[in-house]
Amino acid sequence: MTVREGGSSPPDRDAALVIEWLRRWAAEVRGRREWLTELDAAIGDGDHGINLDRGLTRVVAELDEASAVAPHDASAILERAGRTVLGSVGGASGALYGRALMRAGQRLGASAPGSGRLTAAFGEAVEAIVALGHAAAGEKTMLDALLPALAVLREPSPGLAREERVRAAADAAEAGLQATEGLLARKGRASYLGERSVGHLDPGAASSALLVRCLADVLSAATDRR
Ligand code: ADP
Ligand code: MG
Repeated sequence: MTVREGGSSPPDRDAALVIEWLRRWAAEVRGRREWLTELDAAIGDGDHGINLDRGLTRVVAELDEASAVAPHDASAILERAGRTVLGSVGGASGALYGRALMRAGQRLGASAPGSGRLTAAFGEAVEAIVALGHAAAGEKTMLDALLPALAVLREPSPGLAREERVRAAADAAEAGLQATEGLLARKGRASYLGERSVGHLDPGAASSALLVRCLADVLSAATDRR
């Protein structure tokens, strides 16, 4: 991500991007809450859209409060959002997204300014999900959207602007989501269905594909403003 030079010139641009991204993801999840919940009703317990919407609504409310009083810090914002998601979403995805956001925030806080910062933070988030959920690619989880996106971000792409790379990552996440339809679930509640899990999109992969698309959208909008 673009980083404040020197540290003495607020507002922190990374913080602005993180806030815009969280707000946009929350809005998308709100708009598609019923769809996400229907996907989860087909192969899980039908709470994914409702739970994620509740948690992200709380995250946005905290952003509204914080913007009135505190200076922004991208790392702290992500860590706080992660704690809020962890405490309010519930289910597998609450734990996984909560940890992922917290770890991404910690990574942003620890990494030096530079062009690899976004990929490092995204990679840290995905690794946190792998470490906590022990899922691999092809097991019909959110990782089937996130891992292809991470692979695109990690590809050397000289000459490609950051927002173009992230747009390609969002395309990869959406392709990964579509591919979950043919997969047999091996992790989480959907795995209880065995063969009957085939033929449905994975709800967590759907919310993750939205997450990456929102990131691409806010980066493109930020570039247009420059
Ligand atoms: P729950 O299944 O506890 O009701 P949600 O409905 O909120 O939780 O989220 C379900 C989603 O969580 C699944 O669609 C899947 O993408 C993701 N998921 C479940 N278990 C795992 C896991 N072990 N690793 C990664 N993602 C997982
Ligand atoms: Mg569920």
